[in-house]
Amino acid sequence: MDFRFTEEQEAFRQTIRKFIEKETSRELDRQLEEEGRFPFELSDKMAETGLLGLPFPEEYGGVGGSVMDFVIAAEELAYGSEAACGLFLGPVFFAGEQIYLNGSEEQKKKYLPQIAQGKLRGAFALTEPDAGSDASAITTSAVPDGDHYLLNGQKTMISGADIADLIMTCTKTDKDCSRYEGITIFIVPGKAEGLTIRKMKKLGNNILSTCEIFFDNVRVPRENILGGQAGLNQGWMHMINNLDVERIMIAALYTAIAQRAYDDALAYAKERKQFGKPISQYQMIQQLLADMLVEIRASRLLTYHAAWLKEQGEFCSTEASIAKIHATEAAKKVTIDGMQVLGGYGYMMEYDMQRYVRNALLGTIGGGTNQIQRLIIAKLEGMM
Ligand SMILES: Cc1cc2nc3c(=O)[nH]c(=O)nc-3n(C[C@H](O)[C@H](O)[C@H](O)COP(=O)(O)OP(=O)(O)OC[C@H]3O[C@@H](n4cnc5c(N)ncnc54)[C@H](O)[C@@H]3O)c2cc1C
Repeated sequence: MDFRFTEEQEAFRQTIRKFIEKETSRELDRQLEEEGRFPFELSDKMAETGLLGLPFPEEYGGVGGSVMDFVIAAEELAYGSEAACGLFLGPVFFAGEQIYLNGSEEQKKKYLPQIAQGKLRGAFALTEPDAGSDASAITTSAVPDGDHYLLNGQKTMISGADIADLIMTCTKTDKDCSRYEGITIFIVPGKAEGLTIRKMKKLGNNILSTCEIFFDNVRVPRENILGGQAGLNQGWMHMINNLDVERIMIAALYTAIAQRAYDDALAYAKERKQFGKPISQYQMIQQLLADMLVEIRASRLLTYHAAWLKEQGEFCSTEASIAKIHATEAAKKVTIDGMQVLGGYGYMMEYDMQRYVRNALLGTIGGGTNQIQRLIIAKLEGMM
């Protein structure tokens, strides 16, 4: 067992840190979050680092990163800059990964190099008003119409849909099949006629929008079925292909949010004096900080372990769900404890801790709620 990263991985980590240091700042995050604005201006610079093509091989314009590289990138970006993190997630996570894992050769050649160059952004549209955790209950329909399909229905809570060039849309193409069959993912152009996209107001994570999408006879060519003609009615399998990595990534993101809250809280505790000495010298504050660190270190180990298993090609779905549960629940607890360390200032908008708390609250809901993760564990581990 070797817990060290390779020299290449450490160098990769440093490259991302330098990018964040040079191109982003706390002030930028605060400003973008207040304006609810996406950092388009960073896109070209991020593309230069290779991060937008991280998971794809060179033949598709990427850099061929491993699952562990993906985790390192997610951790560093979520720790260093909410803006840079949003920029990475949109294209790479929502569209790029799906196309790379499930797209036809033609689709990979067409879209992946442009995603890697920062020219295309994506969104992944699964959730509907009546199909949340029960995703197989979607009703957005896609009906053949000559060389095209006509899409009708509604999606809700879709991240980055308003700025997406490619909306990966999960549809029902065969209503007579069982609920997990008859689902097809279409690559829908963000500017397609018949699409209406409306931004939704939310509590946090405001740099990347969340939107409702209405499909009113949206005509999409057959060639836009993810995976080509062979991808028809294969949407559920396509989604499953990506789930382990998605959960590991989410665990990495929330471990990093918690680490940032801890680092801010520790720095504050060493500075802030009450009763004549820094509050870090009080054991009750030390206990809060120590407990925060315990949670973070456990999250990180669980995340790395799941990523390592995935990289070895071993079955890791239980570990991915465990890492997702622990890291997201730890992030909630750690950020709220961080607020306690900062006292009243933790509640004030001029400090970042309130933003970390608001952002952390999403972790247990997105990417399959933590109740659903527990159901998955129960099923996989024979508890049912
Ligand atoms: C900010 C944000 C961004 C999002 N981005 C996207 C996106 O980009 N693309 C996308 O497709 N979706 C996205 N979502 C939607 C997200 O995936 C769903 O919110 C999530 O899957 C839960 O669905 P729901 O909100 O309908 O809750 P519901 O499924 O209605 O669940 C409500 C509660 O019931 C629990 N529950 C449900 N079923 C069970 C069960 N069988 N056993 C025990 N408990 C259960 C849930 O855990 C939850 O606590 C986003 C959501 C948010 C808030």
